[in-house]
Amino acid sequence: MTTIETIEGVRGFLDPMRRAGRSIGFVPTMGALHAGHWSLIERARAECDVVVVSIFVNPLQFGKGEDLDLYPATLDADLAGCDERGVDLAFCPTVSEMYGDGQSFKTGVRVSDLSEHLCGRSRANHFDGVCTVVAKLFGIVGPDRAYFGEKDYQQLLIVRRMVADLSIPVEIVACATLRERDGLAISSRNRFLSPDQRKAAAGIYESLTSAVEFVHAGQRNISELSARIRHHLETSGQARIDYVEIVDAANLESLTEIDRPARICVAVHIGETRLIDNVAVDAM
Ligand code: AMP
Repeated sequence: MTTIETIEGVRGFLDPMRRAGRSIGFVPTMGALHAGHWSLIERARAECDVVVVSIFVNPLQFGKGEDLDLYPATLDADLAGCDERGVDLAFCPTVSEMYGDGQSFKTGVRVSDLSEHLCGRSRANHFDGVCTVVAKLFGIVGPDRAYFGEKDYQQLLIVRRMVADLSIPVEIVACATLRERDGLAISSRNRFLSPDQRKAAAGIYESLTSAVEFVHAGQRNISELSARIRHHLETSGQARIDYVEIVDAANLESLTEIDRPARICVAVHIGETRLIDNVAVDAM
């Protein structure tokens, strides 16, 4: 595996491969890699000739008072894991390689509407930061396919919309959420949970699956379903709810009834740690 820190270096590495007609698969990450990331990387490895992973904690997508400074960094282990899984290129740029001194960088990419729902309400400009870095990374890597987790469902839809609107020639591949044995979605932030908080965090997925069962039992009313999820989360005693929303799976608009493919999305704070999760649900 080759590790490169510069944009020019990445282009120099990939250009001959692209000219030779080899397909390029790309997995953008912020590092602290875990089984969820590995599942995306393994899928890219299975489907593409060349696999590129970026490891970059993108300051643009963190708001004031968020956990940018605390974001876990495990670069040596990340690179070893990528190497073991047959990654060809790890791109690990510095902030100045990506954004210069910050003053000269003047471009932002915003996907309206989709960015205003769910996490967009409590994390102003978060998705603008995501779109800007992902568009830039696509410009650097020029992948044929890029792999994103359904764990960040809103991000997945936003990136899909962005590449469609900007005619960026990349296929966005959605990958299922990888979970711990008790259902908790694997996340770099789970390591911040104390043992008690970790136990309470399992209630997030339980609340989602119990709502799905409720739908399968015939309940279609969003208020009833949301109330059930809220009740479930509140009884764990640890979770402060940011949002519980059941939205149209295609555009994240609120629903009053489950009458089309929907997504149940939640965000909670457990202690200082903000966790998100979502599941699909359909009236069928
Ligand atoms: P991050 O490093 O948190 O920016 O995540 C990089 C990519 O990994 C994103 O596309 C995430 O959606 C995806 N990802 C994170 N956690 C999981 C998970 N538990 N299962 C599947 N994909 C995940």
